[in-house]
Amino acid sequence: MKTFHNPLHAAHAGRQEMFRGRMVPSYEVPERLEYVLAELRRRPLGELLEPEVGEAALEQALLRVHTGAYLEFLRGAWQAWVALDPDNAQRDALPSVWPLGHRHAFRMDAPTHHFAARLGQHAFDAGTPLTAGSWAAARAGAGCALAAAREVLAGARGAFALTRPPGHHAGPDYFGGYCFLNNAALAAQALRDGGCARVAVLDVDYHHGNGTQTLFYERPDVLTVSLHGDPATEYPYFLGFADERGAGAGQGCNLNLPLPRGSGFEAWSEALERALREVCDFGAQALVVPMGLDTFAGDPISGFTLRGEHYLRVGERLARAGLPTLFTFEGGYAVAELGANAVNLLQGFEAGAAGGSAGG
Ligand SMILES: [Zn+2]
Repeated sequence: MKTFHNPLHAAHAGRQEMFRGRMVPSYEVPERLEYVLAELRRRPLGELLEPEVGEAALEQALLRVHTGAYLEFLRGAWQAWVALDPDNAQRDALPSVWPLGHRHAFRMDAPTHHFAARLGQHAFDAGTPLTAGSWAAARAGAGCALAAAREVLAGARGAFALTRPPGHHAGPDYFGGYCFLNNAALAAQALRDGGCARVAVLDVDYHHGNGTQTLFYERPDVLTVSLHGDPATEYPYFLGFADERGAGAGQGCNLNLPLPRGSGFEAWSEALERALREVCDFGAQALVVPMGLDTFAGDPISGFTLRGEHYLRVGERLARAGLPTLFTFEGGYAVAELGANAVNLLQGFEAGAAGGSAGG
């Protein structure tokens, strides 16, 4: 399969994040993607390409998923941050105040102009540093997702969007969880717009794909399924529970499979089987897999215990669903093992796809 990688990803390099009451070095670092690229050169899956997506097509695609106001905010955020204080050029922007949605507590529609307030309106955590290069990097990453979608629409069995920064926590007009633009949602929407009547998103990152869920929550044409650490104890805490099944026309088109911290491959695989049954029953014509590798036992901020060889089996199992499949790169913070784990999963997929699939 072809891999589309982001030539501008390293422009987004956060210095620090707020983590459990302390400022710590960012976990989501450029080296993550470099390890995956190095492993892909060692164990090639196919061509490594930079995406070629025109400006106009990219703008149009971004507006299918995110609001114009949010995109404008991201585009000008760094400039506005430095305008507050020239010394801000030496530090990343992190929010420190948020408008909670409680009745009569705060005006969600307040005509705020100060950058600190606007940052709080568009961010849901203080773990996602916005840097001088965040917009350029996120935008180019979104281009990878679109290029991969085109590849699948042209008939490819699989495609890999090696996106960084990741995307699955980003919603219509907010960022968080290291994510600014929702690459998986952009890919799913591009597949829909390109003629796939029904698309399924199966998120295997350790953390619930809250942004993707929210974006498609009332949609009957895109199924969203997520296997993740139980939000009762795990980030992002406020979404990802089993009783969230979609709403309106999208009722029944969302499935969350939360698992307790400490879960191993056996319990995880059972949840994967359940997820794939849902994808099959939905009648999806294409599958998008937000591929997080933070389910790995050695991950420093997560709590499942999958091992390297398990990812081969995960890839094989995903291939047996028999669907054209697009992978986006999401979390995974055991940086040195990240390349091997990611390529294991993709190689497993390739092997499973080559071995022939019964389909469904
Ligand atoms: Zn994650």
